[in-house]
Amino acid sequence: MIKKINNKTTKLINFYNLINYNLIYNNKSINRYKKENLEPSKNQAQSLELLKRSILNIKNCDLKQHANNMVFSDGNPKSKIMFVGEAPGANEDKEGLPFVGRAGLLLDKMLAAINLSRKNVYISNIINFRPPDNRRPTDEEIKKYLPFIQKHIEIINPKILVLLGSTAMNAIIGKDVVISKMRGKWIEKKFGNCKTSVIITFHPAFLMRQPAQKKMAWIDLKMVRDKKIKLDI
Ligand code: URA
Repeated sequence: MIKKINNKTTKLINFYNLINYNLIYNNKSINRYKKENLEPSKNQAQSLELLKRSILNIKNCDLKQHANNMVFSDGNPKSKIMFVGEAPGANEDKEGLPFVGRAGLLLDKMLAAINLSRKNVYISNIINFRPPDNRRPTDEEIKKYLPFIQKHIEIINPKILVLLGSTAMNAIIGKDVVISKMRGKWIEKKFGNCKTSVIITFHPAFLMRQPAQKKMAWIDLKMVRDKKIKLDI
């Protein structure tokens, strides 16, 4: 049987439609309600695409002119754990993906040691094009690419940011620090609207040259594992 709606109820329904009844019947806060209306994944994909295009459009860059491919990222953009290395090497330049050479194999093992993989972290570099002969990027090159990796971090919005090696550390944290003193500590940092806990550890390529330092990297990795549990991410 269809129930007749009286005039009063119709008025009420019109009123609720006008003011958006979700705001009344939803227990969640108004802020939360607004956030749910956004489409973060779509926005994020668009922002990443825009960022990629702006890196491809960088002018007057020798690195870009000599490289075969731009190396943007690998992994899961929805991950709350982001790793940032230095710059692509020969293998990365060939494949267009970060950490696919020998250092990448060690990075995969480091991730596996704390039950992570490329499927549940996000990986990028300070510099997106391979420096010739795998040399360290110059200060000028780092200055040129820094705004892009900062934006990249803001878009990914990680809760944990792991900086691999001193180039990533000096670019993001500052020039006046040394990795032996800075590694294994949490530093709170903001990138635009992104507030994240940063930890510095040794670069896998350095660990291949100095395997005795792997025990220190293991301490750092365990800190990442424990923070992940604490933040429930
Ligand atoms: N070393 C890095 O820092 N990044 C890579 O992508 C590969 C090696």
